[in-house]
Amino acid sequence: MSAVIQDTREQKTLVSLRNLNKHYGDFAAVDNINLDIQDGEFLTFLGSSGSGKSTTLSMLAGFETPSSGEILVDGKSLVNVPSHKRGIGMVFQRYSLFPHLNVRDNIGFPLAIRKQAAGERERRVEAMLKLVQLEQFAHRRPAQLSGGQQQRVAIARALVYEPRILLMDEPLGALDKKLREDLQDELRHLHRRLGITIVYVTHDQEEAMRLSQRIAIFSHGKIVGLGSGYDLYQNPPNAFVASFLGNSNFLKVKAQGNAAATFEGQALAIRPTAGLQDGQDLVLMVRPEKAQVLTPDQASLSPLAAGWNEIQAKVAETVFLGESLTCSVVTASGTHLTLKELSGATQPLQPGAPVRVRWAAADACVYSEWNESDLSKAAGAH
Ligand code: ADP
Ligand code: MG
Repeated sequence: MSAVIQDTREQKTLVSLRNLNKHYGDFAAVDNINLDIQDGEFLTFLGSSGSGKSTTLSMLAGFETPSSGEILVDGKSLVNVPSHKRGIGMVFQRYSLFPHLNVRDNIGFPLAIRKQAAGERERRVEAMLKLVQLEQFAHRRPAQLSGGQQQRVAIARALVYEPRILLMDEPLGALDKKLREDLQDELRHLHRRLGITIVYVTHDQEEAMRLSQRIAIFSHGKIVGLGSGYDLYQNPPNAFVASFLGNSNFLKVKAQGNAAATFEGQALAIRPTAGLQDGQDLVLMVRPEKAQVLTPDQASLSPLAAGWNEIQAKVAETVFLGESLTCSVVTASGTHLTLKELSGATQPLQPGAPVRVRWAAADACVYSEWNESDLSKAAGAH
């Protein structure tokens, strides 16, 4: 894991969503969202289909009216400002380019309808063609371009009138994986060069991680996690985020004091957690790469370090993946864990072989509230 680079620029709130709601009849598509978006940041809304990402973005763009709540930009309400006066650019999954116009005229279209002088218009369109590296394609029509090139035209068209905020709703969703990754890198670089604020929507966690400075995780119309990808992955605020972002293992334990718990009758060290009652049900979450799998022989040669835990299990399956291998194990009470080891660190283990699983108490998150469905979702993801 690379070091976290601290951004020393001063943070200033550009957009505030305050108690924002969107109801369709009885149904809350967006359920009381509060969020501050920093000037110049790349923020991604990540969540499964139907979680309210697009509806939130559409209210920001001005395509949907909130049922209640406020949208502020620089402290001023946007709710009664029409879409085209918000200084916001928008890119969708469907490129919605004009098929009869060439690349240059597609990009210049927003300036033409804003009646901008021809000279200035040409200058800006040229700058955009350069920015998205489509100078040689300026005379082509959309049908003569690849999907990735069409999406670059759509991005240039959204940026040509120099909006302060660019909203993107699954803009790469229709492209294949390799092209998507190339465009993700381009977008990240573009954001750095332009310094504008980008709010991006995706259901793809890897894409969110690659692109964003911060991620807002959506579930059922609410934001249930907010932070850098690094923080959300290392220290998920709740079991839902832990199971949604990356793979996770959950162990049901009972609290003993505020830094210990029991699992299958055995004492474990846990992160000190305030306010625990003895015997209280807790869930521990350990990432697959944070735990070690040892054979009993290896374990007896290597004493358990202070602050570490060890439990016994049997191998269910190992899968070799090249640089790493995953080892699924099951404990005496039937808890399944999936662990990721670097190849070479572990001998391929046969199903049924006894093993010891170790992890540092500091690496396991402690949750006192969870949904069973989050835990089973996580198990199903392996
Ligand atoms: P996402 O972009 O996260 O996939 P959306 O914001 O598009 O989700 O939708 C959130 C929820 O609101 C979904 O359950 C969707 O069916 C519902 N929804 C969206 N638009 C409408 C509408 N015009 N009428 C009724 N329900 C809607
Ligand atoms: Mg959507």
